[in-house]
Amino acid sequence: EGKLQLVQRHVRAFPDFPKKGILFRDICPILKSPAALTAVTDLFEEHVRSHQLQVDLIVACAGLDARGFLFGPLLAQRLGVGFVLVRKKGKLPGATVSVAYDLEYGSAEVEIQEDAVAPGQKVLIIDDLLATGERQQSGTELQQKVEQADIQGCMVVIELRDLKGADRLKPHNIFSLLQY
Ligand code: IMP
Repeated sequence: EGKLQLVQRHVRAFPDFPKKGILFRDICPILKSPAALTAVTDLFEEHVRSHQLQVDLIVACAGLDARGFLFGPLLAQRLGVGFVLVRKKGKLPGATVSVAYDLEYGSAEVEIQEDAVAPGQKVLIIDDLLATGERQQSGTELQQKVEQADIQGCMVVIELRDLKGADRLKPHNIFSLLQY
């Protein structure tokens, strides 16, 4: 079995969660499987290396949830770079910059520490899943607001193609392991 098949086998679908009409893709089985979690990190790392992406920092965005935090630090450690949190408003100490955005099912205001990214640093944004792209867009907007960070792209485990998140995030590149 290949790495991608291994990851795919550890995603479950739940109809009508968290509300009617939404088919929720659950990544919890990936986290429960050391082999599947390693495969996710391997595949992300292979993408960065094979595309020769220059990365100084990995950034993950919280909203109503923060599942990018689960994958981001693992990849950052592999690449030997730092990891930065984007969090719900009011959670980070010191001077911050914030943006408001909507989610597929809710809304949020998120922020980053003003000094988290140095001018021109090359940033890769990571999350568990790309739906409408609102959340990643909040991440890219924040990066531009803070220090004119140089966004290298966005990486997700799962991309829900019907919701056209990749279109919203243009011109940034999206790399997803699994597409539904
Ligand atoms: P977006 O901003 O619409 O792209 O939504 C992104 C975030 O919403 C993801 O990072 C997930 O945490 C959450 N989300 C939306 N749909 C799903 C789903 O089907 N499964 C798991 N998380 C989801």
